[in-house]
Amino acid sequence: MTALALPDRPQVAIVGAGPAGLMAAERIARAGLRVTVYERMPSPGRKLLLAGRSGLNLTHAEPAAAFLARYGAAAGRMRAALEAFPPEALRLWADELGADTFVGSSGRVFPRAWKASPLLRAWLSRLGGLGVSIVLRHRWDGFGPDGDLLFAGPDGAKIRVRPDAAILALGGASWPRLGSDGSWVPHLDAMGIGVEPLQPANAGLTVAWSDAFRERCAGLPLKRVALAFGRHAVRGEAVITRAGLEGGAVYPLASALREAVARGEDATLRIDLKPDLTTEDLARKLSRERGKQSASTFLRKAAGLSPVAIGLMREAVGAALPTDPAVLAALAKEARLRVTGTDVLDRAISSAGGIRLDELDEGFMLRRRPGLFAAGEMIDWDAPTGGYLLQGCFALGAAAAAGALAWIGRDPAGA
Ligand SMILES: Cc1cc2nc3c(=O)[nH]c(=O)nc-3n(C[C@H](O)[C@H](O)[C@H](O)COP(=O)(O)OP(=O)(O)OC[C@H]3O[C@@H](n4cnc5c(N)ncnc54)[C@H](O)[C@@H]3O)c2cc1C
Repeated sequence: MTALALPDRPQVAIVGAGPAGLMAAERIARAGLRVTVYERMPSPGRKLLLAGRSGLNLTHAEPAAAFLARYGAAAGRMRAALEAFPPEALRLWADELGADTFVGSSGRVFPRAWKASPLLRAWLSRLGGLGVSIVLRHRWDGFGPDGDLLFAGPDGAKIRVRPDAAILALGGASWPRLGSDGSWVPHLDAMGIGVEPLQPANAGLTVAWSDAFRERCAGLPLKRVALAFGRHAVRGEAVITRAGLEGGAVYPLASALREAVARGEDATLRIDLKPDLTTEDLARKLSRERGKQSASTFLRKAAGLSPVAIGLMREAVGAALPTDPAVLAALAKEARLRVTGTDVLDRAISSAGGIRLDELDEGFMLRRRPGLFAAGEMIDWDAPTGGYLLQGCFALGAAAAAGALAWIGRDPAGA
């Protein structure tokens, strides 16, 4: 094992080159400290790049109070970080990197280039200019007996690092092949730090489709629908998968449904296939003379229901469709599906769970481990899709950097 010689040791070590870690690095480098980011993968920001594949939803333009409420039980702890680095600051930051943004019709904020690669490229170049060094292919392997950070290098070499402060920004555990696999959990467990189990959040739902529906409809979209569970309703799109359902309207309900399944409670998802029509209007349309048309043709022509929507109505009743217009309309307005769980963590957008918030002080320093900070998705907070995840990670990266600077005795305001 080699210990880095004292003059070369970084003043601040950051572990994990995702949005949270890189934002922390930028803030600390701007304050004039030496920063080294350690990353296990051969390149930084892999999940950020994946997030940009279907449009990088950086943040959301809704009013601050509504925005904060998206963080649910963690909102109180997220408040200061989000106030210090709010959505407007994130947009300005992206603008300055040449990735100017626009607000989509739903209030979601995207870079005009849509994807993440131009922003990440510009960001890495800026970080290089600030003197941030990014050491790739170095996997953090926990702590040495004297508290040093231990890394395994590409050739299996063991490296010890003893910085003045360190920030862990190791992400959650979804999409593990991109680098974040939750393998940090045992290292923190071993130090007695409370970590809530990492679970799929913003994940697809599992539904026991009939074979016929699965074969015919997997991959097809349900457009302009409203999904509801309990008191929560979400309008948007969903996609039928072989395992169940996924998509923007599904993810916000996933955590509550997962918890209901785990508690053995009712986990019935209600799907409104015609959210712009009242049940009465729909029943009137379905009262038309049917003639010799098949049920599918009639429903498509009279009410504009797609074949996948009609198939879903059949799945909901588990039998032939009713013929009474009022009953049919009620079914299209509220097709009820029993959810059996959430899709696996590997395919979730994000993970819930992580380092318990009460383990962290106001500066996001681990109370049991002075000088060690945490940021990003590895902390136990959760939010729906819509830009809240990335905004939370960027803001927490900035907050942990401010905490580390204060710990070292530097004025975080200078960052
Ligand atoms: C398909 C998909 C689409 C998404 N789309 C959006 C979106 O549009 N908007 C949005 O807000 N959010 C989106 N997200 C979520 C968002 O990308 C994440 O919440 C965010 O990247 C988390 O940032 P982070 O820095 O905390 O962790 P990560 O981005 O996961 O970065 C952590 C880094 O730590 C490294 N690491 C992990 N363990 C070690 C170790 N032991 N040693 C060294 N390095 C390690 C990892 O390799 C990784 O580079 C999406 C996620 C997915 C999967």
